[in-house]
Amino acid sequence: PPVEVQMDHGTRPRIAGIGISHPDRLLFPKPRITKQALAEYHEAMADRLLPTLKDRPAALLRLPEGLDGERFFQKHPGKGFPDAIRSVRVPQADGSAADHMCITDTAGLVAAVQMGTVEFHPWGARRDRLDRPERLVFDLDPDEALGFARVREAALHVRDRLADLGLPSWAMVTGGKGVHVIVPLRRTASWQTAKIFAQLFATLLAEDAPGAYTASMSKAQRKGRIFVDWLRNERGATAVAPFSVRARPGAPVAVPVAWDELRRLRRANGFSMKAAQTRSWADLDVPEPAGLNKDVLARLERK
Ligand code: ATP
Ligand code: MN
Ligand code: MN
Repeated sequence: PPVEVQMDHGTRPRIAGIGISHPDRLLFPKPRITKQALAEYHEAMADRLLPTLKDRPAALLRLPEGLDGERFFQKHPGKGFPDAIRSVRVPQADGSAADHMCITDTAGLVAAVQMGTVEFHPWGARRDRLDRPERLVFDLDPDEALGFARVREAALHVRDRLADLGLPSWAMVTGGKGVHVIVPLRRTASWQTAKIFAQLFATLLAEDAPGAYTASMSKAQRKGRIFVDWLRNERGATAVAPFSVRARPGAPVAVPVAWDELRRLRRANGFSMKAAQTRSWADLDVPEPAGLNKDVLARLERK
């Protein structure tokens, strides 16, 4: 009813210019995180969240009622979305185009939280050249029963094998179970090249150490192993943004970590929202982008 809407509106706190409805709604029970606290986190972390979001299409994982309510992974802007959530026109294979979302500033982050967003999932390409990936992601997905020591070891191994090919990388603990090993790319190769490279790399890794890795998505094959998820490297595929809160118990955050630091970590979900706020991109060395060129592919084929 209009009267209630009016009252609600009158008491909305404004964060980055965005009115927050239901600011006291408890989104996470433990630690207790309200919608207002989540909005404040995104305002405080905008400088760290926006570098990988501001130029890229992004999907949003929305949980308007919080961790225990329904969740949906949304790729396209909905009717009535606020202007602060911008859109980007993405050409499709069939010649048509579709609108995707793009979070370009602090107001966009907070507006997304206002719409129930918890997780931000950007593409691996920027809007000015959607057909040229600017990163590879090797998403290490361990069998649930494996300890984090195995994941850590795998991440370092993947780093070393990539470095052998001339591809320096950095790491992020996801806030879930695994680690993403990320290779910044010069925007020269196509998605097709990136995907074929990633698939071949994962397949060879699993062939060399079949007890440790699988390149197959099947859960049965993952038993006691780590799935090297190479499928993040397709046009339109996403990976969770660094410094995004995860919609998982405890509100853990996806945090980039230096390789030396990763060696000492005990879990992938050990950074709380509070801990994440003490972190920055300066905590790690993000390598210069490398070219995914013929030399790299030839080195991989020689193995
Ligand atoms: P974990 O370490 O627990 O595996 P994760 O973020 O890597 O955390 P994955 O399930 O491996 O989780 O997913 C990898 C990425 O794939 C996600 O970060 C997300 O961007 C994308 N993804 C996950 N679920 C979906 C989905 N339903 N639709 C589209 N993309 C998804
Ligand atoms: Mn994963
Ligand atoms: Mn995965």
